[in-house]
Amino acid sequence: MIYDLIVIGGGPAGLSAAYEAYNNGIENILILERDKELGGILNQCIHNGFGVHSFKEELTGPEYAQRYVEMLQSTKVSTKLDTMVLSIENDGDIKKVEAINMEEGYLSLETRAIILSMGCRERTRGAIQIPGARPSGVFTAGTAQRYVNMEGYMVGKKVVILGSGDIGLIMARRMTLEGAKVEACVELMPYSNGLNRNIVQCLDDYNIPLLLAHTITDIVGKHRLEAVVIQKVDENRNPIPGTEQTIECDTLLLSVGLIPENEITKNAGIALDPRTSGPIVNEAMETNVKGIFACGNVVHVHDLVDFVSEEGKKAGLSASRFIKNELLEGQAVTEIKNGQRVNYTVPQKIRLENILDGQEIMFRVSNVFKNVNITVRNQEGELIKKLRRPVVAPGEMEKIKLKREEIEKANGLLTIALEEVM
Ligand SMILES: Cc1cc2nc3c(=O)[nH]c(=O)nc-3n(C[C@H](O)[C@H](O)[C@H](O)COP(=O)(O)OP(=O)(O)OC[C@H]3O[C@@H](n4cnc5c(N)ncnc54)[C@H](O)[C@@H]3O)c2cc1C
Repeated sequence: MIYDLIVIGGGPAGLSAAYEAYNNGIENILILERDKELGGILNQCIHNGFGVHSFKEELTGPEYAQRYVEMLQSTKVSTKLDTMVLSIENDGDIKKVEAINMEEGYLSLETRAIILSMGCRERTRGAIQIPGARPSGVFTAGTAQRYVNMEGYMVGKKVVILGSGDIGLIMARRMTLEGAKVEACVELMPYSNGLNRNIVQCLDDYNIPLLLAHTITDIVGKHRLEAVVIQKVDENRNPIPGTEQTIECDTLLLSVGLIPENEITKNAGIALDPRTSGPIVNEAMETNVKGIFACGNVVHVHDLVDFVSEEGKKAGLSASRFIKNELLEGQAVTEIKNGQRVNYTVPQKIRLENILDGQEIMFRVSNVFKNVNITVRNQEGELIKKLRRPVVAPGEMEKIKLKREEIEKANGLLTIALEEVM
């Protein structure tokens, strides 16, 4: 059997993509998920705050996932759980997906289109090379979250958190509610990378100190973690001698960044963007390989699940248009470049022929800036659009929507930048 569409990963991105493709006339869809249930990372996020934009309600992660699972139950979309995708191959019109599971063994599946929605993984102690001993008690924040919220194990009593991204902040509150004492949240940068609402609700409300411009320079303990040594850092993020402080603790949680899960993507020869570590995509969320689309955290790390679902919807719609031969190849490709103070943009390319009413461009800024203009300029440097922002921060994804006639003025290149207000 040849599937019309195989979706790799049954998190919020994949669920939304499959649902949208089905609603646009594609029936022969298969979702492959390596976990024992659908929902992705949402299953371990038992706090509320999900769905504020999509459902105008504050749902927990599992509640949000369940809404999509139930929506899919009313369709003919099929699912294989406990099924790990190993590789994909692009054989022209028909693509191959190699996967494995306990019941059926090795599977070689054929499909007309693929949506990549494998999410991302956490950076570990090894990835950031913290020196010191190697005792037990050092976890990534997401692993600790899974232990506490899903497996029923408490990971420690006296905790230090390194990194103030959303997962670290959420876990500071979670560990406190479970009876642990969170000594501090230590952040290398002079600002937090988490959402403002999480800093207030997870640290301030529980009197947990946030130590900005600090890092951990030693880990102490033979069998179990006994203490960490923290130090202030200078503007180049180098530890300042003489500022060492020892904090006794039995647990260190690392929330030091997420990396899009793109081994399969890379091995299939799909072009990646070093700025996002995800595939380069166009206006249709299509990669540089025709018929292979991508959405969610596998493309770039999102802070809000609502935007993940929206991106999934876009990829699902595009895949259905591709299968029905409605997606145009496009002659006029506009490249999107990040200008000053902008770290990346998604998408990275736009084909004008496929723009219906407009195109949203997502991006992240490189630092905290106050009172700035977001500007969009064309190939010749002429201003196409300008939006004033009182404050922007790397922790909160920015979006700008361009109308078709604005993109027409690009002459092949659009540069998104932050400029000072004159
Ligand atoms: C700790 C934490 C707290 C958060 N808090 C909030 C919040 O309060 N509010 C909010 O709106 N958002 C929050 N988010 C963000 C949001 O939940 C995520 O951005 C979103 O879940 C990402 O969706 P995804 O589908 O791209 O990835 P995931 O949810 O990670 O799903 C990817 C799926 O792909 C599967 N997969 C991967 N590789 C393979 C393979 N080879 N074969 C088969 N299956 C595979 C994985 O098992 C997984 O199920 C939080 C995220 C985290 C991690």
